[in-house]
Amino acid sequence: MEYTVAYRKTVYGGIRAYSSPLLDSYGVINAFPERHGGVSEGFYGSLNLPTSTGDMEENVRENTRRYLAAFGAVPETAVKSHQVHSDHILRVTSLDGGKGLLAPNVACDGLLTDEPDLTLLASSADCPLILLYSPDRHMIAAVHAGWRGTSLDIAGKAVNMFIKNGADVKSLVAFLPPSIGPCCFETDPDVPEAMNERFKGELDDYICEISPARYRVNLQGINAHALARRGMDPRRIEVAPICTCCHEDFYSHRRSKTQRGLSAALIRMSK
Ligand SMILES: [Zn+2]
Repeated sequence: MEYTVAYRKTVYGGIRAYSSPLLDSYGVINAFPERHGGVSEGFYGSLNLPTSTGDMEENVRENTRRYLAAFGAVPETAVKSHQVHSDHILRVTSLDGGKGLLAPNVACDGLLTDEPDLTLLASSADCPLILLYSPDRHMIAAVHAGWRGTSLDIAGKAVNMFIKNGADVKSLVAFLPPSIGPCCFETDPDVPEAMNERFKGELDDYICEISPARYRVNLQGINAHALARRGMDPRRIEVAPICTCCHEDFYSHRRSKTQRGLSAALIRMSK
């Protein structure tokens, strides 16, 4: 196994969320919330976080405030990107605080910083997310890895950015919160073909042909593999293998198509 199944479920400020026991042990604030505890209605119910889903701005503003407050943050010191299924990761600073919280801003699929007290967010309604922390370099990242980003090896690229910034790869910590599982991520050949083009013959454990030209793909597993093959310690890659499509407590694009809200994981270091 190239990762460790580990997660903690807690309730802060009326919001139920998943976190990484290892990140928690370092005092790194990290969370991926269930969809409850906000004010949005209908299929946005209730903790929808961007306006890009079509939800009302005042509701998104209140949901964002509540979610951040539950984890000790405020919108002025949080940043979220406009995710475009790329492998682009952007380094951000406190000058970026407040950007992208309600509506899309800079286009990229990963945010990285070495500044304490800056909260990084990564959005998802099924897609795997990766929260990363370097204890020696004191640097964090929040990465969105949908199937296109996964096939572009955005996970490996994130690890490389830490290494280039002087981080010890063996001490890096990663957390992959709940996302769509292989139980529900059934695809045509285009997805496995894109994966195999990048990871050539390494993915037998994560891709299964279930009928002619139909596949089940374990995106979380492939991202964990992408982290481990860059040198990360599998004991420090923590995964919550809970399917967002199977469980109504989460938003799911596969289950609800566009009639849904969108959630976001967060990560922040203290001084
Ligand atoms: Zn499922």
